[in-house]
Amino acid sequence: MAAPKESVVHGSQASQHPSDTPDPDHELVQPQQLPALDRLLRQHGVAALVQEHGHTLVAAEARALLAALRAQALARTLGAARITAGSLAQQLEDRLRQRLAPALRRVLNLTGTVIHTNLGRALLPEAALAHVRAMMAGPNNLEYDLASGGRGDRDSIVEGLLCELTGAEAATVVNNNAAAVLLVLAALARGRQVIVSRGELVEIGGAFRMPDVMASAGARLVEVGTTNRTHPHDYEHAITGRTALLMKVHTSNYAVQGFTRAVDEAALAPIAHAHGLPLVTDLGSGALIDMTAHGLPAEPTPQQMLQAGCDLVTFSGDKLLGGPQAGLIVGRKALVDRVRKHPMKRALRMSKLPLAALEATLRLYLRPERLARELPTLRLLTRPLADIEAAARAVQPALAATLAPRYTVEPVALQGQIGSGSLPVERLPSAGLAIAPVGKTGRGRALEQLAAALRALPLPVLGRIADDRLLLDLRCLEHTDEFVNQIGLLRPTGERQQLSSK
Ligand SMILES: *Cc1c(COP(=O)(O)O)cnc(C)c1O
Repeated sequence: MAAPKESVVHGSQASQHPSDTPDPDHELVQPQQLPALDRLLRQHGVAALVQEHGHTLVAAEARALLAALRAQALARTLGAARITAGSLAQQLEDRLRQRLAPALRRVLNLTGTVIHTNLGRALLPEAALAHVRAMMAGPNNLEYDLASGGRGDRDSIVEGLLCELTGAEAATVVNNNAAAVLLVLAALARGRQVIVSRGELVEIGGAFRMPDVMASAGARLVEVGTTNRTHPHDYEHAITGRTALLMKVHTSNYAVQGFTRAVDEAALAPIAHAHGLPLVTDLGSGALIDMTAHGLPAEPTPQQMLQAGCDLVTFSGDKLLGGPQAGLIVGRKALVDRVRKHPMKRALRMSKLPLAALEATLRLYLRPERLARELPTLRLLTRPLADIEAAARAVQPALAATLAPRYTVEPVALQGQIGSGSLPVERLPSAGLAIAPVGKTGRGRALEQLAAALRALPLPVLGRIADDRLLLDLRCLEHTDEFVNQIGLLRPTGERQQLSSK
């Protein structure tokens, strides 16, 4: 902070736009013309920022701003307009806004994949949001039994509901389904063998690969059958004195089609039980209701798996169930007890935050008639096509007007998907907008620029590029205003430079 006190802040047009373009030579600023930090902090406009945000953050950002400006001045690229009182206050305010903006942001998911792992999967129901808010704002009975006045178990908050909904004897919950599988294997199969079909050695999103999960749980994977065909005798022949359990893994993100054979749970359970072994199924998505009743493709439920003879079933909380990230383990009491008592359970236990959301979400299932309305995941998956088409018609005019003449915007029929490894080959008939660059050359670049501009909106809009078009699937756009109101801010195709240099 070597700037002399008498340094003058040049210029008086406070409203002038900041510009990265160097001004003509005679307007260039010398480093010593920059105000000292304390002087800047007392300046009109900046003092108000100190009042609002406190000295610590504003001073830190002001120091960083002055350092950046000094570097530009030394490089002889700093125009006088950048150091007017108004401009400095504005630049500082912009920096503060950026520093205070959360990194985790809402986006509009127009990708066509409803339960999108990269976009946070299931949306929480209102009831869950309200319960989380109410429970997190104060103390609660997370591990306290209000009837006896003694210590309680956090599992008990959802165990009854889970048993009621799935028909299980017992249930426990952990952070996510990967943790559920890991814990079950560690508790029931450490140092022993687990038999799995070669057709079911799944990888979920890179980090979760069944053989690796087995290894980290200390269990030995015994693969049986082939990629496309596994028979009952494959399992029977593999059972030895060192077998801990038989495992089925729901092939949730791919389908083996053609000349195939798998042994389903109902056929496998008697084989396991004849040898005194449990059958464990990792179901992955875990719909708790019959999806076909909602016009959606069939997806196995935990209750069906238990009825078929599975002893433990694991599934996710934030896929088709439509709740928070969670790993649910339901099944026989003796096995659930062993899982619960394993020391790793403490490390993988669910926090009170998703637990509150999970309880409220599960409670919605007690009134199944209301589910399609109250559970956002199901509401979006069952949204009438006419509704989605209406959304496309509501967005199209403003978007077309803004993007003309470089792009055309047309309503289009689309095929979406459920996502998150649920029902991988099924498609959801949907609707949206197809944006195509006009002209034959540079289409790829034009589409990338447009996608980037959509991502740069205050509420970023994410679509997908296919067949030389940017496709916006509007199934998940329930409030078209959220998109329409920011279309005016859309600046694709390098228009930004033109605007700021005018
Ligand atoms: C999604 C999935 C998992 C992982 O579940 P998370 O809740 O994401 O940890 C494991 N197994 C199967 C079969 C899955 O589909």
